[in-house]
Amino acid sequence: MESLEVVQARVRNAIPAARPATVSVRDALGLVLAVDVIAGEAVPPFANTAMDGYAVRAADTADAPVRLHVVGDLPAGYAPTIPVGPGEAIRIMTGAPMPEGADAIVMVERTARDGTDGVMIEVAATTGDNVRPPGGDVEVGDEVFHAGDVLTPAHLGVLASLGYTEVSVYPRVRVGVISTGDELCEGPGPLAPGQIRDSNRPMLLALVTEAGADAIDLGIGRDDEAAVIEMFRAAAASCDVLVTSGGVSVGDYDVVKAVLDQIGALEWWQVAIKPAKPFAFGRIDGTPIFGLPGNPVSSHVSFELFARPALRTMMGHTDPNRPVVTARAGAAMPRRADGRIHFDRVRVHYDDDHYVAVRSGAQASNALAAMASANGLAVIPDGLGLESGDPVPVMLLT
Ligand code: AMP
Ligand code: MG
Repeated sequence: MESLEVVQARVRNAIPAARPATVSVRDALGLVLAVDVIAGEAVPPFANTAMDGYAVRAADTADAPVRLHVVGDLPAGYAPTIPVGPGEAIRIMTGAPMPEGADAIVMVERTARDGTDGVMIEVAATTGDNVRPPGGDVEVGDEVFHAGDVLTPAHLGVLASLGYTEVSVYPRVRVGVISTGDELCEGPGPLAPGQIRDSNRPMLLALVTEAGADAIDLGIGRDDEAAVIEMFRAAAASCDVLVTSGGVSVGDYDVVKAVLDQIGALEWWQVAIKPAKPFAFGRIDGTPIFGLPGNPVSSHVSFELFARPALRTMMGHTDPNRPVVTARAGAAMPRRADGRIHFDRVRVHYDDDHYVAVRSGAQASNALAAMASANGLAVIPDGLGLESGDPVPVMLLT
């Protein structure tokens, strides 16, 4: 068996470096910036009002309450056409530009309309009250974001406010997902004897999407080497990465292993972990292929430990790993010594001032329901397991 670290390092060294591309801002959520972003415009671009109210000269309101003569009405989106002279006010809506002459806004709640052309200002204003200056959010020349930043919805909003419609990022990698196995059945129909439904493909497609990559459904490969070689070659030509499940253990029909071996692309390990001991990796015409084990929990865990960090590295993430917290075991987690690190499916919650982790159900490598109710993987070192209250690192999955 190889250690987890050794296998992860081999994969890390074998994957291609992230390559930047220009992407529409609308499609850039979760992507990593490839360049610094320097503001070429101020936000807001002009002084404007933060409130609905009246644009006034602050000096005119010193003896409030005072009556001012209303000389205009200014909604957002229009340039002011008349100035505010001494003793005058303009009715103004949030976001409208400050009219010439005005230096403060009195919010509408502090005023009372007085006839058709007057307003009573009830409080004295100070210069600058409720005025948003140009560049108050972002000044021209500000280094707003840096290469390596991960774009959130707010980043996309800021980019749009600066006039960007496209941005230089590390684009989503295209990941083809293939299930293998003669036993796999698709669709809602009845199962023939010996058949099971393909659960890995929908799960792995979703894991790829959740990792921020483009998931491409390439269907089921049967346990037939010639057909699978053809399938893999075509897939490698149209995708940046392939993820397969099944066919990588030590059985007689382990087609992924056999095919990668034939192509001369096989690296195969028994990794010192449970679940997900068998793992195959290779490159087909330069395209990395992750041969994950067939048992659904093994497939999921193997994706988390090998494929996800690789995909995220290829998409420019400098820290491609899931966050790990230290929790306390909420109940004993016994295990047997077997030379492997166990990744137990757990439910983690925050209790007052610490995390508590409890096994989420059966720990067999085909028990996918317990994986579905887990939100973390507890990392349990080789040995006899944990007593209730013991500290345990937990990889958070959500
Ligand atoms: P294998 O790695 O191909 O020997 O498969 C190991 C176990 O996982 C077997 O019980 C398979 O039937 C099961 N398995 C393989 N692929 C899938 C899949 N796509 N969905 C559900 N179970 C699978
Ligand atoms: Mg199989």
